[in-house]
Amino acid sequence: MDNCIFCKIANGIIPSATVYEDDDFRAILDIAPAHKGHIIVLPKSHTDNLYSLDDEVAAKALPLVKRLAKALKAATGCDGINILQNNEPAAGQTVFHLHIHIVPRYEGDGILPVWPQGSYADGEAAALAAEIASKLD
Ligand code: 5GP
Ligand code: ZN
Repeated sequence: MDNCIFCKIANGIIPSATVYEDDDFRAILDIAPAHKGHIIVLPKSHTDNLYSLDDEVAAKALPLVKRLAKALKAATGCDGINILQNNEPAAGQTVFHLHIHIVPRYEGDGILPVWPQGSYADGEAAALAAEIASKLD
């Protein structure tokens, strides 16, 4: 996509601090890191979000994220790692070219919100699970 900054970065038109590159992905350091070493993994082919991600590219993404997470931990000595992937503004997506965050974490850093622990009424979880299952394509 002509006006997509992550297309330009992923395809090397705009330079970036690149950690890894292959035919399908470029992994770079986030320009505004949660902690130093925060990586974002960009597919080279444009897709707005997870919903439209090509299955073959998707199948390659998690093994790459795993490799990068292990390298990030070895390089930074971080205590933990979050994998985050935001879809649509309501979920915090600000750049509309799919990307996967690999965020180093440190004990007690408190940098990410923890979601509330909700609950279900009797039978509600089973009904909702069935409803979601009925939407699988
Ligand atoms: P989102 O909120 O869409 O999940 O994440 C977008 C991320 O992209 C943010 O963490 C932001 O700092 C990062 N980002 C935005 N523009 C650039 C850029 O030009 N270069 C790099 N390296 N990261 C960017
Ligand atoms: Zn793009």
